[in-house]
Amino acid sequence: MTIKEIDNQYIANTYARFPVCLTHGKGSLVYDENGKEYIDLSTGIAVNTFGYADEEWVTAVQQQLSVIQHTSNLYYSEPCAKLAQMLCERTNMKKVFFSNSGAEANECAIKVARKYGENNKGADYTTIITLKNSFHGRTLTTLAATGQDVFHKDFLPLTEGFVYATANDIDSVKELLKENKCCAVMFEVVQGEGGVLPLDKDFVLALAELAKKEDILLIVDEVQTGNGRTGELYGYMNYGITPDIISTAKGLAGGLPMGATILGEKVQNILGAGMHGSTFGGNPVCAAGALNIISRIDDKLLAGVTERSEFIFSSFKNSKGVISVSGMGLMIGIETVRPTGDIINECIKNGVLVIKAKNKIRLLPALNIDMNLLEKAINVILEACAK
Ligand SMILES: *Cc1c(COP(=O)(O)O)cnc(C)c1O
Repeated sequence: MTIKEIDNQYIANTYARFPVCLTHGKGSLVYDENGKEYIDLSTGIAVNTFGYADEEWVTAVQQQLSVIQHTSNLYYSEPCAKLAQMLCERTNMKKVFFSNSGAEANECAIKVARKYGENNKGADYTTIITLKNSFHGRTLTTLAATGQDVFHKDFLPLTEGFVYATANDIDSVKELLKENKCCAVMFEVVQGEGGVLPLDKDFVLALAELAKKEDILLIVDEVQTGNGRTGELYGYMNYGITPDIISTAKGLAGGLPMGATILGEKVQNILGAGMHGSTFGGNPVCAAGALNIISRIDDKLLAGVTERSEFIFSSFKNSKGVISVSGMGLMIGIETVRPTGDIINECIKNGVLVIKAKNKIRLLPALNIDMNLLEKAINVILEACAK
């Protein structure tokens, strides 16, 4: 049997896979089982921050793997302690809870918010406002947080306590605040799965002000926008707000599973011993990977992200077959005249990996993608759009 046949027989049918079996890669180049080369602009959905088999990252991970691979959270461990320190110093936040995915990072944020509401506002202040068209994960609670009915319908009843405001409409948030006993508002500064849509600056600033005035927590879901993706270490930094909780995952450890819920002043001591936990959370190998990644996301690297971003935006602007370009940094959505599926398949045929978000082609290249490779890939996409 081929890999495709084994997979189709034995793996649950939850993924509509492209007909490509990837075997190895280097930087932004990746190869399939037949040796065909692709320029990868998808990075495992914003996970492989510095591409495939990045030398420095591999060394850091291998070094940790060869000395201690796991400890449990019953003991102290250097990599996760150092990583928490680095994340707090870079964000001016106070404490970190480590998990293994974006959904789990959000689950922790939600638990903290509910406990904060109970402690500070009253036991019934449990409702969290999220935005329509958002995406916060696949667990039953983060699905409930996700403001898209299509994800809900087969799995009811979901966790209670979520209400949905309209993005960029502060009055819709105010209305929900009046009608519900709320403890938090949670949002992505750029809605990723929702179509790569950045929130308006005015709206985000108004949200932050409202949260402060009403004493509800400001939770930013930085699972996709985090770790350098938008041209700042975290996406909210483009907006000049101070969140109470940041959740992140995807690119954090450069290709290893790791989630982090970063807690600000107000909520740093909300969780006590025994109130939350994760067997794998803060795993030393993942933490060593993340330490390498985060320490390399400096001003120079971020300037490179912005430079590449501007290059992509200007390449697609007013191009044939392109309706609009949206996004921020290296998280970009391209609305096209041709159906996205056709364009993606044609790009694959011509050696470029891109994915979609709603009705758009989504680009999430490695933060350090070589400019020549990027240009080559863009030309392939432009050609597919223009047909
Ligand atoms: C991908 C994503 C998640 C879910 O992350 P998982 O690691 O798949 O659980 C949550 N929020 C946002 C904004 C995401 O993009």
